[in-house]
Amino acid sequence: MTADLVVAGSVLTDGAFRDAVVVVTRGRVVAVEPAGTEVEAAEHVRLGDDEVLLPGLVDTHVHVNEPGRTEWEGFASATRAAAAGGVTTLVDMPLNSVPPTVDVDALAVKRAAADGQCHVDVGFWGGAVPASLARLGAMSDAGVFGFKCFLVDSGVPEFPPLDRDQLERAVAEVAALDALLIVHAEDAGVVAAAPECGGPSYTRFERSRPHEAEDTAIAALLDLAARHRARVHVLHLSSAAALPSLAAARAAGVRVSVETCPHYLTLSAEQVPDGRTEFKCCPPIRGAANREALWDALTDETIDCVVSDHSPSTADLKHLDTGDFARAWGGVASLQLGLPLTWTAARSRGLGLASVVGWMSTAPAALAGLARKGAIAPGRDADLVVFAPEASFDVDPSRLHHRNPVTPYAERRLRGVVRDVWLRGRRVVNAGTVTAQPTGRLLRREPT
Ligand SMILES: [Zn+2]
Repeated sequence: MTADLVVAGSVLTDGAFRDAVVVVTRGRVVAVEPAGTEVEAAEHVRLGDDEVLLPGLVDTHVHVNEPGRTEWEGFASATRAAAAGGVTTLVDMPLNSVPPTVDVDALAVKRAAADGQCHVDVGFWGGAVPASLARLGAMSDAGVFGFKCFLVDSGVPEFPPLDRDQLERAVAEVAALDALLIVHAEDAGVVAAAPECGGPSYTRFERSRPHEAEDTAIAALLDLAARHRARVHVLHLSSAAALPSLAAARAAGVRVSVETCPHYLTLSAEQVPDGRTEFKCCPPIRGAANREALWDALTDETIDCVVSDHSPSTADLKHLDTGDFARAWGGVASLQLGLPLTWTAARSRGLGLASVVGWMSTAPAALAGLARKGAIAPGRDADLVVFAPEASFDVDPSRLHHRNPVTPYAERRLRGVVRDVWLRGRRVVNAGTVTAQPTGRLLRREPT
């Protein structure tokens, strides 16, 4: 039988780089053969000496915002940015679009908005808000990958947080459904008691969202997860002070996983100039010592995933002119840059590219139950990325594809260039250029 595509060269498979031949037929990897194996195929690709083949990244934390706030970010622009960055699957967050994805009808609206526009595969999280707690089962049946909740103001009025009793109800409900609850873990009471944020001082902003807010919320969540035997996931961990309790809970058998984001791993509070609201996100970027502790936690596997929390807004909502951290939208948009950012920082710490791909592809795929994503192996989707790890580039905002290319990374020199990408065996990026045709699919959680 003639294969559709064969890619030969240094391939990340089974956790290590090997000289191999990847054979693709009808959108799937059908074999990974030793180097030199002759395979008949319609197309043969030989990687350059400076290139490696990676599984497409899986970014489970992306705010697309369409419909309703499409001027912040839409499916066409977000998925083009994803493809250019080597992300072949993203899972969209249930808030900042209008309506938010908090019931089956809203999910249908989301899917209709995304349909035909996506350059990569897209799945959807559902929202656990006070009014949706009785509808989680219906949303689960409709194919959402799990449920997101907030424990503090989300930033948009149509997606209110859960109080302690509602959180317990949500935890009990996901346990009954054997679903997953993903949590923005900052405690509303601790944030309310913290000094107020105002003006362009970054220090003042950081103090308004103290790490104790995360630590308190995470402790409460771990306690509920243990009592209900529920599967929970801590979103965008910034506070390293919460790591010991997370590690202890895991060791005790609590079903908890943890993610952090490139901005917490590559930036530090000491470097944020006052008034530079492109660095604002919640929880905030903290000090350099905290950042190094997050790296240690990736190495010792207390943190599982690195995902973008791509959360853009229009440039005017960032209030870049006044630099007022109290008024600026909180969110860093890095969908296109996550891989080179994380790789550059990992490399400087002596960590390998295989680990980076584990955090950014294999672990997020496992988190969302995407059994065909996250690895180059027989039976998996042929989502493949040609990456030149030692090549470098300077971040140029005009080359970012997301709708409002505000970025704290402008002019940073990064290692690692994404050159070609295949989505289910179809080329979607060719020598760095995203192809015109959107061929992404809308994914549903498959019953386990
Ligand atoms: Zn988010």
